[in-house]
Amino acid sequence: MIVMAAHATQEQVRAVVARIQSLGLSAQVNRGAERTVLGVVGHESESDLDALGLLDGVERVVRVLHDYPLASRDFHPEDRVINLPGGAQLGGPGVLVMAGPCAVESRSQLQAAAEAVAGQGVKVLRGGAFKPRTSPYAFQGLGGDGLKMLRAVGDDLGLAVVTEVLAPEDVELVAGYADLLQVGARNMQNYRLLQACAQVDRPVLLKRGMSATLEEWLQAAEYILAGGNLQVALCERGIRSFEPLVRFSLDITSVPVLKRMTSLPVVVDPSHAAGRYEYVKAIGLAAVAAGADGLLVEVHPNPSEALSDGAQSLNPKAFAELMGGARKVAEAVGRQIT
Ligand code: PEP
Ligand code: MN
Repeated sequence: MIVMAAHATQEQVRAVVARIQSLGLSAQVNRGAERTVLGVVGHESESDLDALGLLDGVERVVRVLHDYPLASRDFHPEDRVINLPGGAQLGGPGVLVMAGPCAVESRSQLQAAAEAVAGQGVKVLRGGAFKPRTSPYAFQGLGGDGLKMLRAVGDDLGLAVVTEVLAPEDVELVAGYADLLQVGARNMQNYRLLQACAQVDRPVLLKRGMSATLEEWLQAAEYILAGGNLQVALCERGIRSFEPLVRFSLDITSVPVLKRMTSLPVVVDPSHAAGRYEYVKAIGLAAVAAGADGLLVEVHPNPSEALSDGAQSLNPKAFAELMGGARKVAEAVGRQIT
């Protein structure tokens, strides 16, 4: 990491970046409120680093000893903010709720779910078009048709849309319809997919692998950041534990721990952790209290007929109750649901 002096000029920053590139290294620039920090990635030598430290405008060169330099708070001390169309903001002062069905099943199902969540003030619609199902015999999603429905319903109601991308070769297609790309738990360490997500101009919501440590997760995020896409948010969705009565165990501690390690926005998905609709509100509120920057919630107009994850999906009434509770908890911790 190269910390520029507070008085360093743009010209000096440009000269340092050019020198970094001439050494065959790459530089990510964070222009902070106080000063500019350059994250240098590559296999640099000790003498190269010493030489960079002598350039005009450089205050100091800091070796970052952990494995996620660009994700770390050292590189970007201020909380990072992702702006989505329609004024939705992830990582800002508000807590952003993203909600909708697990899977896009039909235009009418999606429309009903979208109206229910928009009616609660939600600005981001979720819905899976490509579904990573455990069983190859389960509903796999509507694919391209689902993406089109998502975009049409989102545009109709003025909602941004988030949807999962499963494969590197689908990234461009999905980016053509979605405002936020979701990488699912099962793909957190699909490095080719992460690299492909770095190539498009769309923010990425990276879910935690169900057995991933926080450092493994941040290194996965690092693949996207190092590839040149600095718009990454993390989503805790529960980890495998020895407890069979819930689908996963929500690691609520990950929220404050991540907040120290990284300035990337941290979202919590209480639906996949709980596995049952009865528990979604309680752990969703706990996430807001713990400092999450957003919630990702599954809502279905008629959960008993859902083609995937019906047991954990909230109906519109239960979702309204979650939102009511979340508003109170957010206020209690000095934030607002957006
Ligand atoms: C989903 O959001 O529908 C999903 C498949 O989630 P996860 O990757 O967390 O299992
Ligand atoms: Mn789901």
